[in-house]
Amino acid sequence: MEAVKQLTTRWVLIVDTDEGPTQVWHDPLVDQLQAAVGVSVSDARRGRSELASIPINLLALSRLERLEAEVNAWLRAVSRTPVGDLKNRILTLNQTADDLYRSGGLDVDTRDDLHAVILSWPPRIWEVLDPSTVKELLGSCPTCGVEKISTPDGDRWALRAQLQDGKAPIVECGACSAVWATTEDFLRISYHLRATVDVDALREFGIAA
Ligand SMILES: [Zn+2]
Repeated sequence: MEAVKQLTTRWVLIVDTDEGPTQVWHDPLVDQLQAAVGVSVSDARRGRSELASIPINLLALSRLERLEAEVNAWLRAVSRTPVGDLKNRILTLNQTADDLYRSGGLDVDTRDDLHAVILSWPPRIWEVLDPSTVKELLGSCPTCGVEKISTPDGDRWALRAQLQDGKAPIVECGACSAVWATTEDFLRISYHLRATVDVDALREFGIAA
């Protein structure tokens, strides 16, 4: 099951980029969620003293606790004791449910319910890991030349970049609505703004000499 694989193993995602399909490797989503919490969960449970100084991502923590609770409840529902780390518990749950279903010990509705629950886990983890972030770019728009625009909350820079994991940033001008959506565009804008950029990449795209 693809969701189980993404949750428990290192897996590859093919993303479309300007240069064609590219492989992006991901660590197990469970590991990423645990890392996002900000402290190792096993450390937290041992009550280590540096705990207080490390910021904890409360959303990640609540998603992790909810995930553990659901995995444990389902394990008990298929008469297994929840033991081992969370990835192993998910693997055990999936395997046990499949075995039980094949041997007639689990009805189709229950198996479908479980599959629906497992399918809901990756997107809920992605919500914590991969919020698209918006950053203002300092400088003037290469198209209309405007630097700042007024908004109800005060002035802001006209150019804003929306950054998303595994995708080219999308830059939009709030003044003239020009949009740049490829890696090459982003490099071009960065060069225009004299931002620190990868010079080799610029040369490759023929933007800088
Ligand atoms: Zn503009």
